[in-house]
Amino acid sequence: MNRDEAAIDRDIFPPVTSLKGVGPKIEGHLQRLRIHTVQDLLFHLPIRYQDRTRVRPIGALQPGDECVLLGTVDHSEMVYRKRRMLLVSISDGTGRILLRFFHFNKTQQENLAPGVNIRCFGEVRRGVSTLEMVHPEYEIQRTSGAVKVEDHLTPIYPTTEGLHQLVLRRMTSQALRWFEREEAPDIDLLPDVPEIDGCKPSVLEALRFVHRPPPEADTQALAAGTHVMQRRLAFEELLAQRLSLFRLRLRMQKQPAVPISPAGRLYARLIEALEFTPTSAQQRVIETVFADLRKSYPMLRLVQGDVGSGKTLVAIAACLHVIEAGYQAVVMAPTEILAEQHLQNFSNWLAPLGVQLAWLSGRMTAARNSEMKERISSGTAQAIIGTHALFQEGVTFKNLALVVVDEQHRFGVHQRMALREKGVHGAGSPHQLIMTATPIPRTLAMTAYADLDYSVIDEMPPGRKPVSTIAVSQERRDEVIERVAHACQRGQQAYWVCTLVEESEAMQCQAAENVYQELDRLLQGVRVGLVHGRMKSREKNAVMQDFASSRIDLLVATTVIEVGVDVANASLMIIENAERLGLAQLHQLRGRVGRGAQESSCVMLYSPPLTDNANLRIDTMRATNNGFKIAQVDLEIRGPGEVLGTRQTGMLQLRIADILRDQDLIPQVQESAKKLFAEHPHLVDALVHRWLGKSIEFGQV
Ligand code: ADP
Ligand code: MG
Repeated sequence: MNRDEAAIDRDIFPPVTSLKGVGPKIEGHLQRLRIHTVQDLLFHLPIRYQDRTRVRPIGALQPGDECVLLGTVDHSEMVYRKRRMLLVSISDGTGRILLRFFHFNKTQQENLAPGVNIRCFGEVRRGVSTLEMVHPEYEIQRTSGAVKVEDHLTPIYPTTEGLHQLVLRRMTSQALRWFEREEAPDIDLLPDVPEIDGCKPSVLEALRFVHRPPPEADTQALAAGTHVMQRRLAFEELLAQRLSLFRLRLRMQKQPAVPISPAGRLYARLIEALEFTPTSAQQRVIETVFADLRKSYPMLRLVQGDVGSGKTLVAIAACLHVIEAGYQAVVMAPTEILAEQHLQNFSNWLAPLGVQLAWLSGRMTAARNSEMKERISSGTAQAIIGTHALFQEGVTFKNLALVVVDEQHRFGVHQRMALREKGVHGAGSPHQLIMTATPIPRTLAMTAYADLDYSVIDEMPPGRKPVSTIAVSQERRDEVIERVAHACQRGQQAYWVCTLVEESEAMQCQAAENVYQELDRLLQGVRVGLVHGRMKSREKNAVMQDFASSRIDLLVATTVIEVGVDVANASLMIIENAERLGLAQLHQLRGRVGRGAQESSCVMLYSPPLTDNANLRIDTMRATNNGFKIAQVDLEIRGPGEVLGTRQTGMLQLRIADILRDQDLIPQVQESAKKLFAEHPHLVDALVHRWLGKSIEFGQV
């Protein structure tokens, strides 16, 4: 069968049940792993390897090694410490190691007698006085002569309860043999074999290698995921990822949307009334957004701008265009407090222009809630602001044409897709504008968000000063409190942020409450306020208002203020337990100060001793204010899945590729993707299908 037929017909691959030894029970396990066909088995890739291809001398072992040993039992005894255990000491002439067993029967105990030769496999650990292996696999060597070892590295597969590695190994061996038959369909879908690191391995070659690496394979490269055969597969996986998002994007572009092209009077009036001039980066992005809105298919644009770069203005500009054209716009924020801040900003800027607002949150009274819903469905409200409660409570819009999502990393592709339903009736999907402060390298953004267009606000409003940042141990907390007292007496305003990462929200609020009591008592003459997530909207609002208008000097807060809160006069921030926070969060928090004209500073309070990672985070924060540099370090520490929030949203659950490690492949992937779409569009579905399966076909939702 030729390549094109293979691609078109997905069902040419036999089901797993056609393999020897696969009955209904194993089939069920496999289904849980989303393995249905022989091909799926081949694309179920090992997560790591064990080396059972050679016997290691005991004298050369290091803790952490996982290896095969061959030795003679010197001594064996049963001991009772807290529980019963069997200790067996073996040696091979180069050294000695202790085997420790907790579960054993009488026969086993008798078999492991002095003088017996055994072969065992396990992980080497540091014991009290010698190296040891806890519960190694072992086999008694009765005959002398050659010791049996494996002829390839042993793959360890991701698996599910009840499905043994041995079974997976047997099945992948069968699957490999199936594809190596003369008459098997060609599994190489790519018309041009990509050149990776100077080699052009076929996909079958790469699969064979990765499932069964030969003993001489570079185990370090394999463990690091940088072996050329792994990279060949990573290339194809990234390609499939890219194609899937691209395909999704094409589908979205086939959806109709209302073209928005007003004269721009409202926006002009807004600019006139502003006390600042937009930066050229803001102007450029706003123009791009206006151009997107004029199209008859939905805008899907991600705008990235560091904390404080002025993303709100871009959002407001887009809303004004839509409103002037006679439609509704909605702004969705990830937290109540941020939604409230937006409401504040929007009322300040839009009310003078006569724009009607509505506000919806999860925590308003039933009466107020239905009043707002009525304003939304009747069309009285032109700009609607809220949390994602907006999309969960059966709110109907009269004629929604724009959705702005602030702080994208908390929303996933699925939620973006679900917004389609909310659009203008009969006229299609709303335009979507997504804002994020997470500064990510362009190649990563293009891979993770390939279904979106991407703009960067790469310039800060003028006059921003870097926030000088220091780290102070909790032992010197008194000095910090004194510093706050001085600052407040000089008319500065400050935040004191309480963080308790692992504990419940309730405990976090309690901690803030306690700090509030403490500081209020200690700081005579300083007006202290408290804001946390468990307060009623109205109370929170009142406190934030008081802080914004300088009726409060020191605001004790939980991390509810992390995103978006904007009080320009605040110039000092204390962050408690800074060592427990991630870089992105620290950067977001610190971004709340340094917005006004005066010099600002940030004090990170920590409890020693610091772990290496915590040290690195704190040093990074002290060294730079540049969100891009901070994000680089963050990516290295946490990996892209966490940083981009793709782990939570189920996106980019890659099997073998790692978008950070394999970044260098991305330009080549882009090239191939374009070419494939243009010249071999019929191959796209097959490629996407075999890497991403059905789960990811967002286009269907
Ligand atoms: P973010 O990108 O973090 O959402 P905001 O939109 O909240 O940033 O803007 C931060 C602050 O900077 C706000 O007080 C805003 O009014 C102000 N600002 C925005 N653009 C400019 C500008 N071009 N010049 C001066 N100040 C600006
Ligand atoms: Mg913002």
